[in-house]
Amino acid sequence: MTATMDIYVLIKQVPGTDNVKMDEETGTMIRTEHDNVINPLDENALEAAFQLREELAALTEGAMRARVVALSMGPRPAVNALREALAMGADAAALLSDRAFAGSDTIATAEALAAGIQHQAGVVPGEPLGGANKPCLVLCGERATDGETGQVGPMVAALLGIPVSTYVRRISLVDGGAAVEVERVVEEGFERVKLTLPAVVTVVKDINQPGFPTLAGKITAKNADIPVLGPDDIGVDRVRVGLGGSPTRVVKVFHPKFSRDTVLHTHDASGKAVDALVKFLDERGIGLK
Ligand SMILES: Cc1cc2nc3c(=O)[nH]c(=O)nc-3n(C[C@H](O)[C@H](O)[C@H](O)COP(=O)(O)OP(=O)(O)OC[C@H]3O[C@@H](n4cnc5c(N)ncnc54)[C@H](O)[C@@H]3O)c2cc1C
Repeated sequence: MTATMDIYVLIKQVPGTDNVKMDEETGTMIRTEHDNVINPLDENALEAAFQLREELAALTEGAMRARVVALSMGPRPAVNALREALAMGADAAALLSDRAFAGSDTIATAEALAAGIQHQAGVVPGEPLGGANKPCLVLCGERATDGETGQVGPMVAALLGIPVSTYVRRISLVDGGAAVEVERVVEEGFERVKLTLPAVVTVVKDINQPGFPTLAGKITAKNADIPVLGPDDIGVDRVRVGLGGSPTRVVKVFHPKFSRDTVLHTHDASGKAVDALVKFLDERGIGLK
């Protein structure tokens, strides 16, 4: 029998526009169904998973194969993002969707996703993920374009009790597929890190160029069965998800108001313009003295 490695790719559906509108009364995002897309970095995570799937088959000469599973938590229309992931080449997908998840902050989102991964891996909640016979890797974007906290990946790793590497721009399998070696971007260059699986890796844009869905992929994705799971299905305690499980509260959302005053000092031989500029800077505590 061929051994398998599970690669979970966390997919968030986000507004497909930079012009995200907020409801300043409620502090929530105004979402419309038609303009949602897969979070761009999650497409990079998917592409990395597909490349690792090929790498594993080559490395083990077909003795092991990887199964790429796309997992999302969100409202029902998020199923479209998962169909897109299937069309791009994912082997399976599951959506965590239930009223109980509504209002989840980053930790509650991570609770649901960690439980969803355990459920898909067939691991009893509280039991360790993976193991020598079934290595497993979780890939996600370094951050989502809407919430943009970059917390979900590391939080999922913490909840699963497995290592994490963030800002990863290169990844490859080592030790016959039992570990990955990654390059993570740091301020002054990059770090090379080896992680024994199971592990979580969050990726940056530079890691690859995501592919496009194929026509055959789109047809398969259209008819694919995507399970929709609630907290009871995945064995997560309802008090740990949704608004009740979220210690963060949005107190106020507002657009910062920018104003610009321009004062023009024209340079001439008298040097008055320079004096005026020095005085201007001094008055604001950013002078040369
Ligand atoms: C108090 C509060 C209430 C909120 N209420 C709502 C609400 O009612 N409805 C709502 O939609 N949002 C709500 N949010 C926003 C929501 O919590 C975040 O969108 C979510 O936690 C992800 O955080 P992020 O966008 O910063 O993800 P990041 O940490 O920036 O994302 C990193 C990566 O994690 C993965 N990821 C993140 N979120 C998901 C997901 N849902 N499914 C799969 N993968 C994921 C992706 O791979 C992504 O690239 C609320 C936030 C707060 C603080």
